[in-house]
Amino acid sequence: MNITRISHYINGQMVAGTSDRRQDVYNPASGAVTGLVDLADSDEVHRAVAAAQAAFPAWSNMPPIRRARLMNRFLALLNSHKDALARAITLEHGKVFSDAQGEVERGIDIVEFACGIPQLLKGDYTEQVSTGIDNWTLRQPLGVVAGITPFNFPVMVPMWMFPVAIAAGNTFVLKPSPTDPSASLLYADLMKEAGFPDGVFNVVQGDKVAVDALLAHPDVKAISFVGSTPIANYIYETGARHGKRVQALGGAKNHMLVMPDADLDKTVDALMGAAYGSAGERCMAISVATLVGDVADKIVPMLVERLKTLKVRNGLEADAEMGPIVTRAAHERIAGYIASGVEEGAQLLVDGRDQTVAGMEEGFWMGGSLFDHVTPAMKIYREEIFGPVLSCVRVQSFAEGVDLINAHEFGNGVSLFTRDGHAAREFARRIQVGMVGVNVPIPVPMAWHGFGGWKKSLFGDLHAYGEEGVRFYTKQKSVMQRWPESIAKGAEFAMPVAR
Ligand code: NAD
Repeated sequence: MNITRISHYINGQMVAGTSDRRQDVYNPASGAVTGLVDLADSDEVHRAVAAAQAAFPAWSNMPPIRRARLMNRFLALLNSHKDALARAITLEHGKVFSDAQGEVERGIDIVEFACGIPQLLKGDYTEQVSTGIDNWTLRQPLGVVAGITPFNFPVMVPMWMFPVAIAAGNTFVLKPSPTDPSASLLYADLMKEAGFPDGVFNVVQGDKVAVDALLAHPDVKAISFVGSTPIANYIYETGARHGKRVQALGGAKNHMLVMPDADLDKTVDALMGAAYGSAGERCMAISVATLVGDVADKIVPMLVERLKTLKVRNGLEADAEMGPIVTRAAHERIAGYIASGVEEGAQLLVDGRDQTVAGMEEGFWMGGSLFDHVTPAMKIYREEIFGPVLSCVRVQSFAEGVDLINAHEFGNGVSLFTRDGHAAREFARRIQVGMVGVNVPIPVPMAWHGFGGWKKSLFGDLHAYGEEGVRFYTKQKSVMQRWPESIAKGAEFAMPVAR
């Protein structure tokens, strides 16, 4: 088996790591090592930041419409390399190919949004704020900005960041997850082919060492982070201490509230896809079904039946519905949560721990698991499992369900399944969660709406992409201008007021 070396991309070139730190990259379906990724030390991070810093003056000076044209070329190249990117995702992440294609598509949406940057950067203007004086605001790029991204969306999540940042005139250093790093080099190549100048987009592979070097570097003006809550908190605090602008998106525990009047078949389909799609390794996965009244007794047996036919396969097989878990360590963590649920008295109706796939026995396989009678005190309810485990919690009323969801420390996504318009309206108004679906299980906002959770699911003020993303990557400047007739009045010592 060939082991691919996966290195950095700095100043328009593939650069082999000079440190002796490396990490194995696995195909989770076979369990085999397929790659070896370099882990940058701080010198390598400094080289990437220096390349980005050197590229910034010319890049930020380029008219936005010309930057947008390059982004358009990148968009065309991405569209013609969709399947290569999706394949790279499946081979290192394990998610099924159709899901990987969907991920690429959702990343491309943001590139398309970034193509509209001339319109998004337009400022505002007030004529005659005082006699002979006009005032306007404009937005200017920050400089070098960095993105630190998780394993679960190696294409889409970086594309929440760099297309918008770069189109706005910044230069970028990406630090992807070392678990599935190959896709980052594919799109770095496409950026070069599209004509972006060297140094505008750089990739450093690595771990905490690289992250800490980015956090401390004085030339990095802003950090966008997506990952687990403890690391998001660390990034937010450390970045802020170093004077940087930070948006840090964290973990999740997403509920679906199912009302007694919901369409049962559609709800079961939605729960199956949202809980077990991508093996539950999505920050918008539904991990808690909150079942109101007697709907639990109807839905739970249907879920048990449907789980018996869940097709757990190598993600490259056409009919696969769920692939393997990303790593052996994640597999152990999820199995540990299932054991803890049993110990704490939840009813394990379907146990996915013994799953194997013929011919791929070394892969990190796990089937879907289903718990009933989960209570808010249990660890499997309180903590993010990030695996194919659905917990059913029974509540008596809509109000009890809303209160339960609002009391959880995470607030990323949530969904309501009902036929009652009034319940839907009340839910959208009262729920303390950043992204809400009504009869939509995974309400990931479109490119121009922006993505972000509440509470411990996001540290920072601005959401990712959309207009909030443009604001994050630019700073506002206000200009006040007067061209007086040449009549000297002498100095004014009182606060100027409108005249
Ligand atoms: P992670 O927090 O382990 O890693 C995220 C990034 O941080 C990676 O680049 C990693 O190399 C780096 N990192 C890890 N440990 C670090 C440390 N001690 N110091 C500095 N940097 C460190 O997350 P993950 O396992 O790759 O991804 C899964 C998590 O991401 C889940 O919690 C999931 O909910 C979350 N996630 C959230 C969103 C969102 O939008 N809110 C989206 C996707 C994933």
